[in-house]
Amino acid sequence: MPHPIRPGATLGLLGGGQLGRMFALAARRMGYRVHALDPGEDCPAGQVADLEVRADYGDAGAAREMAKGVAVMTVEFENIAAATLEAVAEMCPMHPGASVLHTVQHRLREKRFLEAKGFPVTSFREINTEADLRKAASDLGLPAILKTASFGYDGKGQQKLDASTDLAAAFAALKGTQGILEAFAPFEREVSVIAARSSTGKTCAWDVAENDHANHILDTTIFPARVPAQVAEEARRMAERIAEALGMVGVLCVEFFVLPGGKLLVNEIAPRPHNSGHATMDACVTSQFEQQVRAVCGLPLGDTRLHRPAAMANLLGDLWPGSGEPPWEKLLAFPEVKLHLYGKSEARQGRKMGHLTALADTPEEALARVIAARAALRS
Ligand code: AMP
Repeated sequence: MPHPIRPGATLGLLGGGQLGRMFALAARRMGYRVHALDPGEDCPAGQVADLEVRADYGDAGAAREMAKGVAVMTVEFENIAAATLEAVAEMCPMHPGASVLHTVQHRLREKRFLEAKGFPVTSFREINTEADLRKAASDLGLPAILKTASFGYDGKGQQKLDASTDLAAAFAALKGTQGILEAFAPFEREVSVIAARSSTGKTCAWDVAENDHANHILDTTIFPARVPAQVAEEARRMAERIAEALGMVGVLCVEFFVLPGGKLLVNEIAPRPHNSGHATMDACVTSQFEQQVRAVCGLPLGDTRLHRPAAMANLLGDLWPGSGEPPWEKLLAFPEVKLHLYGKSEARQGRKMGHLTALADTPEEALARVIAARAALRS
């Protein structure tokens, strides 16, 4: 086993949003120091880090300078320029590595990687011209989903095409960027698995999470998911095998579509802690953020066992009144509810400002609790 990076060392973080903040909180609780790079001032991770480095993600010089002072670098999101990642990798170990990020930064690369390794994905076609789109639509059938191949998240750059869609206009909306057309997956549920792989090659996974989206943004997660045990087991095994196939070190999230009959299709991989894993903080022996610290530092992975069923609901900027804060005391009056706020000063529509978790005897009760507690903010 390589020498672990022990508490007292400094961990570097590219990205200063909420995922970085929760990583930094877990790291500092364990006695590490954290340096976070982010282009914004007073960013969520910077507020709780030992050092906030203000620089653009494309500023390879600033990232290299920061990397000199840390024992290991990690990332809170995957869309970081290759030159920045290379500059960091010259100075210190980085988990996940640049090749993992390269694979998942582009939907076509990601899908081809999964296909080549034998993981089930929805049928897809590469789209470079309007003729490609017409041919792909006829091959795959409609409805289908047209996405930009790179830099998409939370449904950004996505269009659902059906028989009435003007394909010329849909192609024009790609604005000259490469696209991918995916066959529509007639899913019954969307689920995800958070898994981790250590530098010694050990893997582990949490229970399966069941996700519900609103306006393409994750709205609620039920933990564990309402899927048969063998579907859950298959999803967890697949997530661990994907971590192995990527050769990554750290936490990753694999999102799946569950088709009628229980067949799983991999939708997306995020090689980092994920919004759908937030319930692990309050419901499990080890949170996804503590696990990320353990994995990138070469420490033994923690137990992923669930203490109690849980649900998570996101708190978007829409909940904020014109001025001031929502009435948090109403939410906190609910039993077994935990509030997590990210320290963002500006509440915009659709912006993730925080989340709440509720524990209960069953996942359904936990879901009812987070929904009622969140609704109480508007009452
Ligand atoms: P993505 O950004 O790829 O995760 O897509 C965001 C959401 O759009 C997913 O969570 C699904 O609800 C929906 N979606 C994306 N791709 C497909 C597909 N091929 N078939 C059906 N729904 C999809």
